Amino acid sequence: MNSSFLYHAWGLYTHKCTREEYKGNTIILHVEAKDREKECPKCGHRHLVKNGFRIRDFIGLPIGGKKVIIRMKVQRYQCKNKDCDYDRQEKIPFATGSCGYTHRFAKYVVDLLRGMTLKDAANLLGVSWDTIKEIHTHHLENHYAPPSLEGVESIGIDEFAVRKGHVYKTIVVDLKSGRIIYVGDGKGTDALEGFWKRIGWKGIDIKYVATDLSAAFISSVYENCPNAVHVFDHFHVVKLMNEKLDEIRRVQYNMEKDINKRKVLKGTRYLLLSNGEDIFDKEYKTRLDNALDMNKPLSQAYYLKEQLREIWTRINKEEAEKVMLDWIRQAQESKVQQLVKMAATIMAHRTGILAWYDCHISTGKVEGINNKIKVMKRTAYGFRDEHYFKLRLYALHDCRITRNVG
Ligand SMILES: [Zn+2]
Repeated sequence: MNSSFLYHAWGLYTHKCTREEYKGNTIILHVEAKDREKECPKCGHRHLVKNGFRIRDFIGLPIGGKKVIIRMKVQRYQCKNKDCDYDRQEKIPFATGSCGYTHRFAKYVVDLLRGMTLKDAANLLGVSWDTIKEIHTHHLENHYAPPSLEGVESIGIDEFAVRKGHVYKTIVVDLKSGRIIYVGDGKGTDALEGFWKRIGWKGIDIKYVATDLSAAFISSVYENCPNAVHVFDHFHVVKLMNEKLDEIRRVQYNMEKDINKRKVLKGTRYLLLSNGEDIFDKEYKTRLDNALDMNKPLSQAYYLKEQLREIWTRINKEEAEKVMLDWIRQAQESKVQQLVKMAATIMAHRTGILAWYDCHISTGKVEGINNKIKVMKRTAYGFRDEHYFKLRLYALHDCRITRNVG
């Protein structure tokens, strides 16, 4: 084959093609170096002799819908200078180490994986799923691991279940860039140990931390960066309140004897948990109003849920604190057990809730990432490999289509 074709199609300019072979759906190009090595790379001596060869196969870029194998005669050279022990295979400029594919092929695979699953790419290219995954793993290792901590000031911490709620991972997200900068095994204090160590080594000064209200996060943050402002954000507080509201609805439903009233209560879950302002449908509004009219604890809980958001819409921290204390008082006076408990929780975390007014950070970004992970897990064949899974998480912010995984 013409050398310039070899160069333009596969980027091989130091090699020549000695023979082409066509086998089914595969084209095999037999290549060898155009020039023999003349000078010893180690001592510069000019007496270098050939010392056997071996044949190696590399997957090259496909052409005409066919798989291409570049079969290279890899020459071994020995230096004849008696003071030199040089005796090595010639360099292969188009592939890395012992990898069985060319750089160009690897780059092509990485490009395909931006819009394809590992399996799709493997099928299209006629190579094994493992090869595709290996290529992707190398790429991710080179570009995303370990994640840089430079300039990280505010972080969000959260956890998610890997498999049916038994195995957990804890992630730390840089709230500015949206990158996952740490993945810990399990949940709670232990899961974060490695992260605090890295922060310590690198001398990173974390200024703001956003988490949910879990006691483990609180003590871990307090212990490891006591000077940081710890914010319990809007999202998690409202989520907790929604859980209480739903619990009250369930209890009230079970206590209700009147079959018609039960019917009214039954269909209101979604309406109760939605933002009141978002319900435009008249029929829905009436249904919600009916349910609230006939059940006092439920309506108390509902209106308190709606009011809770006001804490984050005030002009300043002082105003917010007033709203919060008023909310707590109302919840306590309701005498509804779940609301009294919620009031106690908010009271206990008031500093962290109001700290939002000092920095306006939230784990909103982390929640977005968590949703992306959920989508990704659905086709998570490749995630049995822990290392690969972590790499995928580190690269998640650059991943446009998260379903393209397994
Ligand atoms: Zn030498």
